[in-house]
Amino acid sequence: MDICEFSPSYVRAIAPYQPGKPISELAREYGLDERSILKLASNENPLGISPRAKSALGREFEELARYPDGNAFDLKAALSRRYGVSEQAIVVGNGSNDVLELAAAAFLAPGCSSVYSQHAFVVYPLATLARGAKGIVAPAKEFGHDLDAMLAAIASDTRIVFIANPNNPTGTFLTGAALEAFLARVPPEVLVVLDEAYNDYLPVELRYDSVAWLARHPNLLIARTFSKVYGLAGLRVGFGLCDPEIADLLNRVRQPFNVNSLALAAAVAALDDNEFVAQSYETNGAGMRQLENGFKALRLKWIASAGNFVSVEIPRSEVRPRAGIVYEKLLRSGVIVRPVAGYGMPDHLRVTIGLKQENERFLAALGQALRE
Ligand SMILES: *Cc1c(COP(=O)(O)O)cnc(C)c1O
Repeated sequence: MDICEFSPSYVRAIAPYQPGKPISELAREYGLDERSILKLASNENPLGISPRAKSALGREFEELARYPDGNAFDLKAALSRRYGVSEQAIVVGNGSNDVLELAAAAFLAPGCSSVYSQHAFVVYPLATLARGAKGIVAPAKEFGHDLDAMLAAIASDTRIVFIANPNNPTGTFLTGAALEAFLARVPPEVLVVLDEAYNDYLPVELRYDSVAWLARHPNLLIARTFSKVYGLAGLRVGFGLCDPEIADLLNRVRQPFNVNSLALAAAVAALDDNEFVAQSYETNGAGMRQLENGFKALRLKWIASAGNFVSVEIPRSEVRPRAGIVYEKLLRSGVIVRPVAGYGMPDHLRVTIGLKQENERFLAALGQALRE
């Protein structure tokens, strides 16, 4: 008897998530010094952690023998003030990934489906398949979400539509007006999960107020994270904003202590660190222009991105994709980026915007890899 055969077939069918290669792993594999390695593979904040969050962490260490506040009172109070929603409309997650999983746990089961776009964030298929539900992939338009195609893909058994704005790994962006028009047309019994992990990086002229839509659309769930602009990826904390009745459902399937006390304290402090957020935004904008100019000089095409990363096209040699080869060459020079072949993008590499010198080093290594 093989015990694994008793795991549901839909669990066994899941392809495991492939994270960006950790620095320590590359150091071991290639015999490199960890300090010499540049990781631009996981959309982490190159400025590190918010200084306010760092001080909050120091204070919290003394309390680690105690369980965290399972209701996240302080964090919900801070988020409630920031976004003008009630505490009952907030669900905290172990990263916003957790919020996406909670939505799937609350609404998906065998016999249901979710809809998401081709090239969309891989957690949507993962969360869907883990519930035994079916994933319906709507074809993308120039790598971005095609909202008409997504509407058309909604079936009678569809319970969730996942939208990433901007999307990872493409960086493509939908305007607030397009999203509002979409929400008005989605059947009210389908939950729209709007994943806004990168919204703080949006250029000012592209910003829109999705939180205001919650009042009109009780089937909307907005997912946000502290992993990106706030620099807390290692702590794992994110949150969802939605109708209180939906929040209540998500809380029923949530682990009672899903967000640890260090993460809670750091998130409260980070939320008020306007200076750090502004600095992260500026650094990202400048770095994005630097990479775009670098790509131009190397005669490479890229997908215009509204996030803190950009996917660049590596030209094929003859007909064979060369992105994998360039990825390996970059690794040998101590630079980690992200292959996205698993996203149906075999000709692209995704690179996170770094600090000025980091971007310079990446561009030099990329130019070298392309010449070899
Ligand atoms: C990084 C990212 C997240 C956030 O992940 P966390 O679990 O909060 O670290 C969510 N959605 C997308 C599209 C992302 O790229």
